[in-house]
Amino acid sequence: MQVYLKPVKKIGITALVPPELIFACGQEPFDVNNVIPASRSYPVNKLCAWTAIWKEMITKGEIRIDSFIVVAGGDCHNALVDGQKASRSGIPTHFFFYPFDGDPQYMESELYDLSYFLGSIQKPELFKEIIELKKIGKKIDKKRSAGKISPGEAFRSLISFSDLCGDINKFRKDIASIKEIKIHMNNRVAMIGVPPIYHDFHEIAQSLGLHIVFDELPSEFIRHTGKDIKSLARDYCDYTFARPLDLRIEFLQKELERRKIDGIIHYTQFSCHHMLEDEVFREELDFPILTIQGDLPGKTPQQIKLRLEAFREMLDRT
Ligand code: SF4
Repeated sequence: MQVYLKPVKKIGITALVPPELIFACGQEPFDVNNVIPASRSYPVNKLCAWTAIWKEMITKGEIRIDSFIVVAGGDCHNALVDGQKASRSGIPTHFFFYPFDGDPQYMESELYDLSYFLGSIQKPELFKEIIELKKIGKKIDKKRSAGKISPGEAFRSLISFSDLCGDINKFRKDIASIKEIKIHMNNRVAMIGVPPIYHDFHEIAQSLGLHIVFDELPSEFIRHTGKDIKSLARDYCDYTFARPLDLRIEFLQKELERRKIDGIIHYTQFSCHHMLEDEVFREELDFPILTIQGDLPGKTPQQIKLRLEAFREMLDRT
């Protein structure tokens, strides 16, 4: 008897969508944001460059996906609109909502809806495999914080936990090959907000004496997991970016104390509503804060390098 395997579909995601569930449904997640920092695309019609670039690339067929999951209720309204524009090219699209109040039952029903969209769970054993990978991710994060892994390498591997590069086995090998080194750290810095759009940002900060020991969004990618839909729901409903700001600040306060940081870089993106959070962070987080704003992808601009240097000098004096 011949066995016909269902073809694996490439599922575009616009923000954190539990990759555990996408893999368990026999599909392959693809975080459309992960191609942006290396992109040379300058979209004609844009607010935030992240969403405008992936929208344009999907519409032109430069990003090829079979289906699309747009995080519609969570952390980004630009993605909601650009996601709808991209879906007009005919890609089957599902809109995914996180509960602002953290209700695990609502989260569970969202995950069931998502699993129907993806064709239901085919490979439940992959939940456990991903739990194990996220444990490795936490070790990488810990070693980076202890100065044993370079901030740039740690960032690139942790940010890839959003989709595990679409290939669990290859991803396992990639993260196992990260080499330990010894880094002398003067200024321990936390990166909060959305990730920088510049592909060399962590290396530039390190070369200027600012060692990034925490990246807020990637740390959320490794923090949440589960062995089935129920436990995924209980865990992912605590995704801080989709919850009230007070909860996120409470989480950050503990995390930044624990990592003994000296200062914070708050990265903001042109035309992103998260910029409005800056004054609240300044009121509530008791550390020196440098706020920077990026726009188009590429190398870290000279003007931002000068501001990083001035921030390092200020930390050196304190
Ligand atoms: S930077 Fe802001 S506006 Fe742009 S994709 Fe991220 S959350 Fe959305």
